[in-house]
Amino acid sequence: MPALLEARNVTKIYGGGRFSRTPGMVALDDFSFRVEDDQPTITAIVGESGSGKTTLARLLLGLTEPTSGQILYRDQDMSRLTGESRKRFLREVQVIFQDPYEVYNPFYKVDHVLSTPIAKFKLASSKQQARALMEETLNAVGLRPEETLGRHPHQLSGGQRQRIMVARALLLQPRLIIADEPVSMVDASLRATILESLRQMHLKYDISILYITHDLTTAYQISDNILVMYRGQVAEAGDVDLVVKQPQHPYTQLLIQSIPQPDPDRAWGHYELPADAARPVVTGGAFCRFVNRCPHAMEICRTTNPPLYRTDEHRAAACFLYRESPALDRADLDQVLTDPARNLTPTGT
Ligand code: SF4
Repeated sequence: MPALLEARNVTKIYGGGRFSRTPGMVALDDFSFRVEDDQPTITAIVGESGSGKTTLARLLLGLTEPTSGQILYRDQDMSRLTGESRKRFLREVQVIFQDPYEVYNPFYKVDHVLSTPIAKFKLASSKQQARALMEETLNAVGLRPEETLGRHPHQLSGGQRQRIMVARALLLQPRLIIADEPVSMVDASLRATILESLRQMHLKYDISILYITHDLTTAYQISDNILVMYRGQVAEAGDVDLVVKQPQHPYTQLLIQSIPQPDPDRAWGHYELPADAARPVVTGGAFCRFVNRCPHAMEICRTTNPPLYRTDEHRAAACFLYRESPALDRADLDQVLTDPARNLTPTGT
């Protein structure tokens, strides 16, 4: 069965080119990933800025085109979607952005955000039916219609505005929601509520969620699988329990160690991420992308880009520390991701 959405050997380079004096910046480097239609999962894509995670979201939404490789929606090249297939894509794949305020037109009441897709996709046959649908959807994300509809965006809190965006996505009964840092501009007290709304949508309606974030803690709370990205490549991927509780890639280990601790004497963990000494503009090449920050760097790391090694049934790490494990083709990453079963037992490294 074709995947709902697939990135196949995708590389995205910004700048550079034949007539440019500066080298291009590789934002995403030979990246492959599938969202299956019949196996709804929540997958977190985690990384710092410059990791390629936002570029990935833009590629999957068709907002930018790959330099090489393909983005496929139901086996059709995204750049060639037209007519009914494009309309189906626009309904089946929804997005929730970081800053909900930017999505709103301040001159319209927030009802507009919900009534527009109802009209565009003909979801209701009368005004009464449209109103009932809006109320039902707002209730589903924990908002009271009487406190929400009829107001302008500035009259609502950031958390309410973001939940309306969740409601808008739900309205269209999508197969996939790409949530790009959806709670990073929301009060801490509301983060859990919004993430829980997303999780409930996944559980109740079998919607897959791609949760893109720099925050490992919320990624752990919400997701089944996780991809840790570094400089456009997957550093480590697999079952979220395995990756977060027993991180293998040195980069993932540093990320975990830098998570704020509840101990007041150790407010920001016991290990600071060392600054990246590499040049900010990079081209792809034969070296480990993490070599300048890695406490375990070896000679081979400077001359060869490590493949993904399948260290457990449900996890892979791109690091030569695990070269005894079988190498996994980057295009086969889904082999360690698609099983949503929990209680997995690591097989060791
Ligand atoms: Fe460190 Fe080498 Fe592993 Fe890269 S491949 S993370 S430099 S040990």
